[in-house]
Amino acid sequence: MSAALGLYRLQQVDSRIDQIQARLRTIQQTLENDLALRSALERYEAAETRYGNAERLLKLSETEVEKQRIKIEQTEASLYGGRVQNPKELQDLQKDTASLKRHLETLEERELEAMLSVENLEKELQAAKTDLERVQSNLKEQNRDLAQESETLRKEFERLNSEHQAVVTDIAAQALHTYEALRKQKRGIAVTTVADSSCEACGTTITPSQQQSARSTSQLFYCPTCGRILYAS
Ligand SMILES: [Zn+2]
Repeated sequence: MSAALGLYRLQQVDSRIDQIQARLRTIQQTLENDLALRSALERYEAAETRYGNAERLLKLSETEVEKQRIKIEQTEASLYGGRVQNPKELQDLQKDTASLKRHLETLEERELEAMLSVENLEKELQAAKTDLERVQSNLKEQNRDLAQESETLRKEFERLNSEHQAVVTDIAAQALHTYEALRKQKRGIAVTTVADSSCEACGTTITPSQQQSARSTSQLFYCPTCGRILYAS
């Protein structure tokens, strides 16, 4: 049996553990930091603020129009009430009424603009709300799926940890030390195999005599190019 066999099995277990840990981290980040939700929420809040402002403006506009109408009514009451007889005063009152009515038109135009603005912003707010609800509902589904995946991965992770412990007990301390050191240097992959007469990790051609060495039962053989432990069955 190849001296590298135990380490090769350990590598398979550890690589899967690495994969699971990376995936679990990604899932965690996705659950904690959802950009789609945040931006939909921001759009909704901004639309809400704009709508609120427009509504207040409309209220102000309505009040001004109402006040102006009362002023006109009062002026006309003086004009037609019969209490004012002086032609000069009557003429002034007529002028006032005309001027007040002209200003009323301006105020009514502003009121109409404010109404249109409220209508448009109400539509915009409704659209932002629909969008937010869609994102929230998608997210609920996505989160449920991710939570399930996470649960499955955690179980596999526990099983692999036990397997790791079991495999490690059969490996000599020195070989294990070499393996751990290489794992740190070689981005997690310390042990590789020969596939089509090449190192599976770096692609270097492995000669038949090197392959024979990789099958050695007494000592570890390293890929001449990448330096990883080479396992050949
Ligand atoms: Zn190699």
